[in-house]
Amino acid sequence: MSQSAEAGPAAPSPGATTSGVADLRWTHVTCALCGADLPRPLLTDPVIRRGRRYDFQIVRCGACGFVYVTPRGEGELFANTAGGAARRDAAVANAPIYAGGLAALRRCGLPEGGRILDLGCARGDFLDYASARGFAVAGIDLNPQLAEAARLRGFAVQTGDLRDLALEPTYDAVTLWDVIEHVDDPVSVLAACRRALKPGGLVFFHTGNARFQIPKARLLRRLRPGGGPFLIPYQHLSHFDPNSARAALARAGLEPVEVFFAGTLSYREPRKHRAMQLANRLGALPPRFGGPLLTNAMGAIGRRAD
Ligand SMILES: [Zn+2]
Repeated sequence: MSQSAEAGPAAPSPGATTSGVADLRWTHVTCALCGADLPRPLLTDPVIRRGRRYDFQIVRCGACGFVYVTPRGEGELFANTAGGAARRDAAVANAPIYAGGLAALRRCGLPEGGRILDLGCARGDFLDYASARGFAVAGIDLNPQLAEAARLRGFAVQTGDLRDLALEPTYDAVTLWDVIEHVDDPVSVLAACRRALKPGGLVFFHTGNARFQIPKARLLRRLRPGGGPFLIPYQHLSHFDPNSARAALARAGLEPVEVFFAGTLSYREPRKHRAMQLANRLGALPPRFGGPLLTNAMGAIGRRAD
């Protein structure tokens, strides 16, 4: 993926160059999946910071259809760290999703008691869930405080970027729970996951489904013109759908195996929770009749073939 940094008066978004936010940089990026530079505008997602409005652009690649954010706004006001998985109550909320993901990995050949590396493990909630079910777990997280919190729970966790760590290919599976949409270059991260796998090992990632998230954000924008952000565009840099999830796995040298609905977060507000459950039940139906997966989130599995 090629990048060119822009800052100062040429910044493409109104409000981006105003005083007081001198550290904000807009960076134009090309498609992370195919390298094309053919961004077709899909949606503007405004973010208000200190009384100013920043219009983030979500685009679809004109060559391959991948949905991503460009230009990217990065700076003090738009930290891309420690997302929802860092929440203290995530273990409870995530249990049904973890169950769905582990069941899929088992279906695809993850051996009982196998070795799992969780990338972006945060406080170690999935490490806890999987180790309680007999798997040998280890984690990696960029955030030193979260990695330390997981170590205090007794887990072997390294701090850093997997791409910089020389891991032996000893894992049966690498898991990424709501991580891949945050990273700058998803293909290079998946390729690094592949290098940590034994031959035949599996990569699993759980993320939002653009086929649900983009129409939902458009609808919300129409209903609440002054609202936003609807897609947290400074953190969610990529929006995968089943096609681009398979394409990303293939570009990373993995054989795409399965894309499926693996559950969604529980929402605290009962009405929102019920609405999301209903939407997901309906969204999971079309694949049975040869249609697209329309659930709000999905899991994708790829295999290291050699
Ligand atoms: Zn593309």
